[in-house]
Amino acid sequence: MLHHERQRPPPTDYPADEWNVIEKKFHPELLAQLETVMALGNGYIGMRGCPEEGGPNAENSTLINGFYETRPIIYGEEAYGFAKTGQTICNVTDSKIIKLFVDDEPFWLPDANLLSYDRRLNMKSGTLDRDILWETSAGKQVSIRSRRLISFPNRHVAVISYRVMLLNAEAFVVISSEMAVNGPSVRVDSDDPRMAKAFSGRVLYPRTSYSKDRRIALCHATEKSNLTLTCLTETALQTSCPYSYKAVHTEDFGQVAFTIEARPDAPIELTKYIVYHTTSRTASADELCGRAEWTMDRVTGQGFQKLLAAQEQYMHDFWRRSDVHVKDIDQERTKRTTVEIQQAIRFNLFHILQATARADNAGVPARGLTGKAYEGHYFWDTEIYLLPFLIYTSPQIAKNLLIFRYKMLGQARARARELGHRGAMFPWRTISGEEASAYYAAGTAEYHINADIMYALRKYVQATGDDQFLRDYGAEMLVETARLWLDLGFYSGTKQGKFCINAVTGPDEYKTVVNNNAYTNLMARENLRYATTTVETLRKEEPDAYDELVRKTALEPNELEAWRSAAENMYVPYDEKLKIIPQDDGFLDREVWDFKNTPPDHYPLLLFYHPLNIYRKQVIKQADVILALFLLGNAFTVEAKKRNFEFYDPLTTGDSSLSSCVEAIIAAQIGDVDKAIRYGMAALLMDLADVGGNVRDGCHVASMGGTWMMLVYGFGGMQDDNGTLSFRPSRPPQDNAILRFAVAYRDRLLEVELGVEKVEYTLREGDDLAIHHETEEVTLTREHPIAVRPISKEMSIAIRR
Ligand code: BGC
Repeated sequence: MLHHERQRPPPTDYPADEWNVIEKKFHPELLAQLETVMALGNGYIGMRGCPEEGGPNAENSTLINGFYETRPIIYGEEAYGFAKTGQTICNVTDSKIIKLFVDDEPFWLPDANLLSYDRRLNMKSGTLDRDILWETSAGKQVSIRSRRLISFPNRHVAVISYRVMLLNAEAFVVISSEMAVNGPSVRVDSDDPRMAKAFSGRVLYPRTSYSKDRRIALCHATEKSNLTLTCLTETALQTSCPYSYKAVHTEDFGQVAFTIEARPDAPIELTKYIVYHTTSRTASADELCGRAEWTMDRVTGQGFQKLLAAQEQYMHDFWRRSDVHVKDIDQERTKRTTVEIQQAIRFNLFHILQATARADNAGVPARGLTGKAYEGHYFWDTEIYLLPFLIYTSPQIAKNLLIFRYKMLGQARARARELGHRGAMFPWRTISGEEASAYYAAGTAEYHINADIMYALRKYVQATGDDQFLRDYGAEMLVETARLWLDLGFYSGTKQGKFCINAVTGPDEYKTVVNNNAYTNLMARENLRYATTTVETLRKEEPDAYDELVRKTALEPNELEAWRSAAENMYVPYDEKLKIIPQDDGFLDREVWDFKNTPPDHYPLLLFYHPLNIYRKQVIKQADVILALFLLGNAFTVEAKKRNFEFYDPLTTGDSSLSSCVEAIIAAQIGDVDKAIRYGMAALLMDLADVGGNVRDGCHVASMGGTWMMLVYGFGGMQDDNGTLSFRPSRPPQDNAILRFAVAYRDRLLEVELGVEKVEYTLREGDDLAIHHETEEVTLTREHPIAVRPISKEMSIAIRR
């Protein structure tokens, strides 16, 4: 239930536009929100949408994925096994500064007389574009046009084109291209546990710096995490006007200042090339600068136009695979036009790309690289909320993220041993691979992350057919996580000898350290089953790979039988009277939260009530049982989904942004169109309409992935959890709406268009493909790539089993 009206008016008057998010006027009061919304990134580098001129800024961050500093976690009362070291992503060298002076008058947005202003996140080109007409105090009109891009094809590269032109007069123009290492500038909100912790002193220590003409390098390192960073810039200028320049640098600052005798209508085109390289101990500062130099030589040789063309090509390919297209949306119900909905969909998908594309050897921070909330940590958000989109649109990115988890396996094994477990235990939140959660109850206790990673692994292997990956990486993780579950649970005499898992926290962090969290048990069962079948298949079909697995994991022959038995005897709570799955053993014994007397401004509850008050009541932060009903949808009838949804929905606050999208999916599956649309819109507009009220701290990347799932699994009716690709679409909520999306499946590209009473499947690329439409198998071939099928009126009956 939306217990409080969480959809605020859009923070700014974004005009409806399918490909751009546009700011038509400078909004000083919305600096922080817009810095997030207009942030650029490529999964490695991220820059908040702060202006080039060095300000005004709310939280001026340039972030590098995985570049963090550590600090001790101080507990009031210590206990064995608590995480000891906090990890916090930190601001790196700010390289985008380009200051402009006309006849010595600085161009400063809040004071400037702006004759026109247009800034847009351009989702077709993958750029942030700004077009301004400024009139100086002397009445000189200056056109300022900039385009900023963080390159997708070139992981380490950003580039800014900054073009100035006097329109009605001559003037002396100074353009100062700068780079600076700032002190810590984290906004600290001590009562909000979601915020990043601040460092009190310096974080980046100078290693080396130099300049060669208009190329400047600043190299720094962190003290404790031992990470080194080089930021290299080169600034080029093209103009027919006479100019001179001067370059200076210190350890923390670099500047190339151009003085230009500007003539009217003569463009001054400045291009700033930016390169970041980072490393842990493996390379010296000099070596790192050398790498940055190679990259810089390459990109300056290409020039801005070529880099832009490559970016646009990358975006074109991305949208071809990933766009979700809508037509004729019912404005009455959604309160938004089709164009606004299209814009919001693309905004979400574009930001997912920005958070993941070039993460390569890193994970995905909960807020991408758009803000520091959650400290740049990687959570289960990646596997459960983002990977489905990536698996079906950019499987290589999905693979990289799974390999990144694999690389943590050593640490996960060590962590399991520390906690007295067998197998491996992945951290709830981390950058380095070590557990960094400072609150074990809503942290380490969330064991479900281990099953979540394995769930995503299975989805990846099924959708791509990448059995090699399963052999090389997956099987080992499956063995170790299966061991963990077997170690964690036990056959309980009080539960008819069923396999029970106690003292864990499920997705709903408003109930912690509970017995038999249904979500955890259901997902652990999947984990155990998949481990068993994978190992068995290897043993039968690939003896060499099996031997290698035995060698790597010291697997004993009797382990499989133990996993199988635990899975088959897994205890899943069920209440006969209510005919629902209780969230955990104690859930139904709790008193229902007093929603009626909770003021609307007291949400999220976690900021207004002591945890104990929340824990002892029936009140839910985010979809928990409901999430299991979606992820394991094949195992439940529509009636079961309906009963559980109707029970849990009124208790669910949606205080986490991970909730609405999942509620929307189940609402769509049970035919509750009103709720599907209401929750769906909350997920879709989470960041553009600042539904959670905290977009200033970064985009809610998991909800963005959830938005795609809501469209494709919810409204599009896609199902894949039984190993086949099936579609059981529901009729669109209005007569003529159209939803079109593409999915990559085993080297094919399938397009699905859902319309009035019928659905059209088109094989766009690749060989023959068999899918299911409702209960019928449909084969698409190169000769007959299109199949059109009616949408059954009896959908709910068709899904019942
Ligand atoms: C949610 C978690 C989530 C984390 C990061 C928390 O508020 O409860 O499920 O992983 O945010 O997004």
